[in-house]
Amino acid sequence: MSTTTPPSATTRTALDRATCEALDASDPLGSFRDRFVLPEGVIYLDGNSLGALPRHTPAHVQRVITEEWGTGLIRSWNDAGWFAKPRTVGDRIAPLIGAAEGEVVLGDSTSASLFQAVVAAVRMRPGRRVIVAERGNFPTDLYMLEAVQELLGGGEPLERRLIADDGPTLDDVLDDHVAVVVLTQVDYRTGRLHDLAEVTRRVQAAGALVVWDLCHSAGALPIDLNAAWADFAVGCTYKYLNGGPGSPSFLWAASRHHAAARPALTGWHGHARPFDFTVDYAPAPGIERFRVGTPQLLSVAGLEASLDIWDDVDLELLREKSLRLTELFLSLVDARLAERWGIVSVTPRESSRRGSQVSLRHDDGYAVMQALIERGVIGDFRAPDLIRFGFTPLYTSYADVWDAVDVLHDVLETEVWREPRFARRGTVT
Ligand SMILES: *Cc1c(COP(=O)(O)O)cnc(C)c1O
Repeated sequence: MSTTTPPSATTRTALDRATCEALDASDPLGSFRDRFVLPEGVIYLDGNSLGALPRHTPAHVQRVITEEWGTGLIRSWNDAGWFAKPRTVGDRIAPLIGAAEGEVVLGDSTSASLFQAVVAAVRMRPGRRVIVAERGNFPTDLYMLEAVQELLGGGEPLERRLIADDGPTLDDVLDDHVAVVVLTQVDYRTGRLHDLAEVTRRVQAAGALVVWDLCHSAGALPIDLNAAWADFAVGCTYKYLNGGPGSPSFLWAASRHHAAARPALTGWHGHARPFDFTVDYAPAPGIERFRVGTPQLLSVAGLEASLDIWDDVDLELLREKSLRLTELFLSLVDARLAERWGIVSVTPRESSRRGSQVSLRHDDGYAVMQALIERGVIGDFRAPDLIRFGFTPLYTSYADVWDAVDVLHDVLETEVWREPRFARRGTVT
């Protein structure tokens, strides 16, 4: 990803709407927008949390329900390839993350897949008692690690060392006690992007294994796990990949680790011969050992439909447009909001260090975001004070970026966000 083209000078000067429209007219990814359902009057900048609905997903899921389930019934386990889905659909995710065939399997949630991967990785480094993680990581990753620390500590929990973008650094904490380092490639709050290959190299130089969380990078930028010689990775499919609410996570393990990796959860779908119904567990030979139980096939169907779109995406073009969108947004914020309201971005300016989202700091960020949503600009809020905007190149246009900043300008100018109704919080922020 370090090889991606930087945003052009055109983007940097695209500070009027007509220029944005011209960029849309010549956008090589422009036609993908028609393959999604986007509600009228909405600018959707939260595809990094829940991707938009692909146009043909309802028909595909409907067909799986009526034909494969309704008519095929139990026969569909064979006839419709149900049993193999976690692997065959995993194979369709593989090219998006630089994985080979037979290296990716669908899981349950990211949390569960992370648990599977980290337990296997820690067990591959016997005698080492430290797990390194990021203080700023999405909390479920840290919560799941607490369980691993308890489970594998043998009485005394494994030690956890936390790093952060403002220190301590990886080099501060790495030594020959570290078994595993768990990192999220793109930070969910700031959008900061790790150099996957470089960080992997440093972790492995210390004799540890790395587990990458790709939740905010799969479908946001090209990833090459095998070129980086990474060890394990997990991610979700309902964010940039548009699999739908509750679509399954995925787990990748480098094929060189398959034979040695002992999964934490030893369910029957991960058994070498599940239909022998033997008393003892024996792991399947390859990546399928990480399967647990019956896959959520209706959710898998939603994911399959979105992968029909991803099959056609050139990830280099995707990255190029993603950087142009975020660069445009940052330039407009600088030009129109920064000085007047002191709005600052916490997202790295340097394109090689940025994912596909931008977060702005505002003391009353929650209310500002609620006012934006009421006006049809949907982003989200992350405590304590960040308003977050995800840019999904398949269905976000340059004009959307212009319009979103225009609405934000208006919300700040009119101070409409001060109205009390915008301060009320729902269960999910
Ligand atoms: C979105 C996200 C998750 C989500 O976990 P689930 O178990 O799928 O709900 C986990 N980790 C990171 C870093 C995320 O961004």
